[in-house]
Amino acid sequence: AIEIGGLHKSFGANEVLRGIDFRVEAGEVVCVIGPSGSGKSTLLRCVNLLEEPSAGTVRVAGADVTGPEVDIDAVRRRIGMVFQSFNLFPHLTALGNVMIAQRKVLKRGRAEAERIARVNLERVGLADKFGAYPAQLSGGQQQRVAIARALAMGPEVMLFDEPTSALDPELVGDVLGVMRGLAEAGMTMLVVTHEMSFAREVADRVVFMDGGVVVEEGPPAQVIGAPAHERTRTFLSRVL
Ligand code: ATP
Ligand code: MG
Repeated sequence: AIEIGGLHKSFGANEVLRGIDFRVEAGEVVCVIGPSGSGKSTLLRCVNLLEEPSAGTVRVAGADVTGPEVDIDAVRRRIGMVFQSFNLFPHLTALGNVMIAQRKVLKRGRAEAERIARVNLERVGLADKFGAYPAQLSGGQQQRVAIARALAMGPEVMLFDEPTSALDPELVGDVLGVMRGLAEAGMTMLVVTHEMSFAREVADRVVFMDGGVVVEEGPPAQVIGAPAHERTRTFLSRVL
């Protein structure tokens, strides 16, 4: 589970997160929606400590990641993160990209890292692309390599920050399909997305953020289908 309590984050005088509380239970999929600048990426970055929270607590799989004695590297190993930009190494093949962090961070041997890389590339539908370089792959394929790379580390939770927003429309479906498969396999997922049909169909709960607070949260049929707040309705009327 991911437990976020009283989370605040300021950049100088700009208070971007103003007290965020919610939980993602083990095996649950929570989608975060909200306007640009509402603090969605900052929230995700605080969960895996790419940003240091100004106040509040974040617990991942029972461990307080905001405590004074936190081992940041150990925390990051438990959390897979997928961004809008795939950030693959251009000089490494798909297999090489999925192996490198296993080798360097987890100190896995070459044979084991390669075996696990193959399993995860197959899982994201890229069994025929082991030897391809990023430049030889479509954006959707590159993003699926990035997902395989995260999965190969054996994370307890996965964070996704608009994983399909940089993709051509016809490539979005493959990436969402992989994410749907992960959800069905029981992965704990926190997903920032503008894909309302994905949120409707896959999320257990939807969190609507605006101005650094959670305005409302609940099952998709409620938050997207029958929002209680004017701000949510205004946002949805722009994206739906
Ligand atoms: P988008 O939908 O456009 O991705 P978002 O909801 O993810 O928006 P954030 O990226 O979390 O929004 O940004 C929220 C606010 O925090 C913005 O005003 C942004 O300028 C500010 N911000 C984010 N990161 C930093 C940083 N490293 N330094 C200073 N300000 C930052
Ligand atoms: Mg963002």
